[in-house]
Amino acid sequence: MIATKAYAAQSATTPLTPFGLERREPGVHDVQIEILYCGVCHSDIHQVRDEWGGSIFPMVPGHEIVGRITHVGDKVTKFKVGDLAGVGCFVDSCRSCPNCKAGIEQYCDEGMVGTYNGREKKTGAPTYGGYSTQIVVDENYTLQISPKLPLAGVAPLLCAGITTYSPLRYVKVGKGQKVGVVGLGGLGHMGVKFAAAFGAEVTMLSTSPSKEADAKKLGAHHFLLTTDTKAMKEKASYFDVILNTVSAPHQYGDYLNLLGTNGTMIVVGVPPSPSEVPAFNLIMKRRSIIGSLIGGIAETQEMLDFCAEHNIVSDVEVIDIKDINEAYEKVIRGDVRYRFVIDIATLK
Ligand code: NAP
Ligand code: ZN
Ligand code: ZN
Repeated sequence: MIATKAYAAQSATTPLTPFGLERREPGVHDVQIEILYCGVCHSDIHQVRDEWGGSIFPMVPGHEIVGRITHVGDKVTKFKVGDLAGVGCFVDSCRSCPNCKAGIEQYCDEGMVGTYNGREKKTGAPTYGGYSTQIVVDENYTLQISPKLPLAGVAPLLCAGITTYSPLRYVKVGKGQKVGVVGLGGLGHMGVKFAAAFGAEVTMLSTSPSKEADAKKLGAHHFLLTTDTKAMKEKASYFDVILNTVSAPHQYGDYLNLLGTNGTMIVVGVPPSPSEVPAFNLIMKRRSIIGSLIGGIAETQEMLDFCAEHNIVSDVEVIDIKDINEAYEKVIRGDVRYRFVIDIATLK
């Protein structure tokens, strides 16, 4: 076993503190990764605080992982020692159900194995995430990372990046379409960058007037303050697609009204309590709501390659691991521009 330093929450009501864990010895298909950076996703906070139910403690969060390969198993073909590598939200799946075969392992019929807060298929042991110095992962669930991009900014692509890239591709966002992105946080800022890169006209829908200038710098063409009822009325039936990244409880109805005929609202934010969906807001213009969960391994690699080609990274604030609990409070307050990333060197 490989002794590994980490930060963990011991319960839903205690802060993250230093924790020692053991990684498995790498098998023939495994790579061992020295973690360099790990992003802080709002899902880490939901799960550490058990807001979705079923959390496993102690919990070592972190599913936006980039690092360097320090060991490869005998049958590993994609990686060699010294390569950069990434790990996203899951580290295994059944590999044989129709979804796994179709490369959408995140929808595995048996359930994907989360990078943390999950259980390993073979042993049932809890999985531990990237707020740690190293990780051992099957190469089939490990991503290749271009050395061209700044690494700290690449880490959030492994969750915030793919979670926004995948549904925007699925609904074929492109030139001539009007896209609204709701919530300028970790996911939202990547949604703006991708929708703009795909050629759409992008509007940032935010509750924070202070974020307008940043939204435009990120690539948004327009800014709509969602607390301004007059401005919201003026944009009724305007959008083709709305990407909803909101993390806190809210009602879908107001955003649905902004969609034109056949418009689609993509829900990626996962507030702890459900939202009402008024039937009239759907039927009047044949609007639809779809949900989307991260993305499969092949599409995550496609997204990373797209980012390397188009020079896209996340806007990050790099933090020391000892500041993680304060960082959580700041994320909840919306006081992050636009993703905290832990420098794992501060954990060694
Ligand atoms: P984040 O950085 O905290 O961003 C959330 C944004 O939502 C905030 O910046 C804020 O933007 C807006 N917001 C907050 N409270 C609001 C309210 N009451 N009403 C309206 N807007 C509000 O979080 P994140 O890391 O981007 O994650 C967003 C959500 O996506 C979380 O629930 C997370 O668990 C979920 N998630 C889902 C997936 C998936 O696969 N579907 C993957 C990753 C994360 P403004 O200040 O601009 O209003
Ligand atoms: Zn995430
Ligand atoms: Zn499967």
